[in-house]
Amino acid sequence: MTFKSKNEIAPELLTSSTSSIILRCPFPSCHARIIAYSATATPSVDIDHAPLCASIESYHSQKSDPKLSSSTTAFYSIGDVWDFDNIGVSKPSEVLPDPIVVGANGHEDESEKVDVERLLICSECDRGPLGFAGIAIGEDKTHLNLKYFLSQNSVLYDVGN
Ligand SMILES: [Zn+2]
Repeated sequence: MTFKSKNEIAPELLTSSTSSIILRCPFPSCHARIIAYSATATPSVDIDHAPLCASIESYHSQKSDPKLSSSTTAFYSIGDVWDFDNIGVSKPSEVLPDPIVVGANGHEDESEKVDVERLLICSECDRGPLGFAGIAIGEDKTHLNLKYFLSQNSVLYDVGN
């Protein structure tokens, strides 16, 4: 199997409706299947000031453990936790003081503010964070209202035919 990082994958593969891509845990001894990527079911969102996430610089030139990075701004938005194949959650180690703004690719009218409630980790190896889950401001603080955001640079891309 050949995996690629976000930086190494051809952009047109991510927009094609015919490509088959599995997003996998980035840690070398794990590589568990996290979720099936789909251009329509896992739309991209830009998020400033997101929590620290594991970040893969370049998978092929440096097969080391991903490092934590605060520069992660590109995420996939996942509405339903059942879309994931393997995902775990943990409480943030520090409380983030302010809600963060989730922008819909520059469409300012579609942006919303989200309180970070959980960090996403791989449920196989318990490592991460690979993203976070939050609840939009004004909605009830119940897990039913959690929205999930998977960091695009925190997962490996397993491209099928
Ligand atoms: Zn894992």
